[in-house]
Amino acid sequence: MLYTPLLPGAASGALEPRHVVVPLREELEWTDIRLGRVTGADPAVNELSMRTVDGRDETLRYDQLVVALGSVPRVLHVPGLAEHGVGFQNLADAIALRNRALWNLEVAEAHPDDEARRAYLTFVFVGAGYAGVEGVAELQDYVSDVIDRYPRCRLEGARFILVEAQDRIMPEIPPTLAAFATRELRRRGIEIRTGTMLESVEQDAATLSTGERIPARTVAWTAGVRPSPAVAGLGLPLGDDRRIVVDATMRVQGRENVWAIGDAAAVPDPAKKGKAPCPPTAQHALRQGKVVADSVAATLAGGRPRRFRYRTLGVFVDMGRHKAVATMVGVRLRGFPAWFAARTYHVALMPGTARRLRLVIDWTVGLFFGRAAAELGQLGHPPTLGSLLEDQAGVEPRR
Ligand SMILES: Cc1cc2nc3c(=O)[nH]c(=O)nc-3n(C[C@H](O)[C@H](O)[C@H](O)COP(=O)(O)OP(=O)(O)OC[C@H]3O[C@@H](n4cnc5c(N)ncnc54)[C@H](O)[C@@H]3O)c2cc1C
Repeated sequence: MLYTPLLPGAASGALEPRHVVVPLREELEWTDIRLGRVTGADPAVNELSMRTVDGRDETLRYDQLVVALGSVPRVLHVPGLAEHGVGFQNLADAIALRNRALWNLEVAEAHPDDEARRAYLTFVFVGAGYAGVEGVAELQDYVSDVIDRYPRCRLEGARFILVEAQDRIMPEIPPTLAAFATRELRRRGIEIRTGTMLESVEQDAATLSTGERIPARTVAWTAGVRPSPAVAGLGLPLGDDRRIVVDATMRVQGRENVWAIGDAAAVPDPAKKGKAPCPPTAQHALRQGKVVADSVAATLAGGRPRRFRYRTLGVFVDMGRHKAVATMVGVRLRGFPAWFAARTYHVALMPGTARRLRLVIDWTVGLFFGRAAAELGQLGHPPTLGSLLEDQAGVEPRR
């Protein structure tokens, strides 16, 4: 399980990536875990099909099914985006973005052409929800930490641009907090283009709907999510937004023993009197999971399921550099107090004492010694022995 609110921290080197992941086998001692991809379901006969990690197709029978397949980035048909844009949804994306930032600094440092160097030093984030705002803020923080080690890049400076189609950033939080976040980002030199869309992406440039062409080698796409494509194959009713239609107890419409929660389900939001679905956030998904677990247990014992009644108590938007914006039970915080509250909240929610301690140590070490700047792009892609054999052809005698 990836603790996504800490993903920007992992991308920026503030946290060791392994420390934002919770291995399921450590936490779920009483669960029979099967690693694989769900490929379909037949709710009429209570069957689920999956492909195991080693490629075998299996069918599982169930008494009760809880669907929690989450979401994937919502990618629009912007020319060049699929080829040149990068996502920011999982750990691989976060590590790739961090490695790319360091790689770009290396290339820019040695590049003879000024124009090309500028493109390597420009980072564009498209979509100013949580992921975009936290991602651009943390990455800028990281690059400004490490750029001192690159004398030519330091003179030039790096450029960060946040593009948002709506007329303000973070429509999920109150306007005053969003305005504070906007001022803070601008004060740091991050350029914000609201009411603007991405028109096209090339290998070394992004063009906006205003006609502006920005020389940039990195375009991160953080413009919203859509339910995991796997939900379409489960034979369950889907709404206009492709999320699974459920009632206030999260039971799937027309199915007594199927439940759906999290980003993949359109759970009526109690804060909006059930007229709109809950926003796709971890704080909703976690609470929905607990309520559904109780409901399944109650149903098996012949009882009645519980309704989902949670209303958002607060939000945190971490902006790096010991600053954040937050609302908590009606109280609004900005700057360092908000940052401290956000850290405390995440530490409290992270499962396991050892993991909490690791987070605190990462943040404390970073506070005194800056962030780790090691580039680990080769991790997980070691050269094969075959390629090494080719390298030594003609040098070593054949045996
Ligand atoms: C960068 C970023 C920052 C965020 N920050 C915050 C934040 O600060 N606060 C907040 O409340 N929310 C935040 N969110 C949103 C939050 O992560 C999601 O709302 C939450 O994870 C949804 O939980 P879920 O259980 O529905 O899905 P997920 O946590 O996405 O879990 C779904 C799981 O299903 C798996 N899966 C998908 N398809 C299949 C298949 N076919 N077969 C088997 N398994 C499958 C996936 O691999 C995944 O492990 C953030 C999201 C991102 C990307």
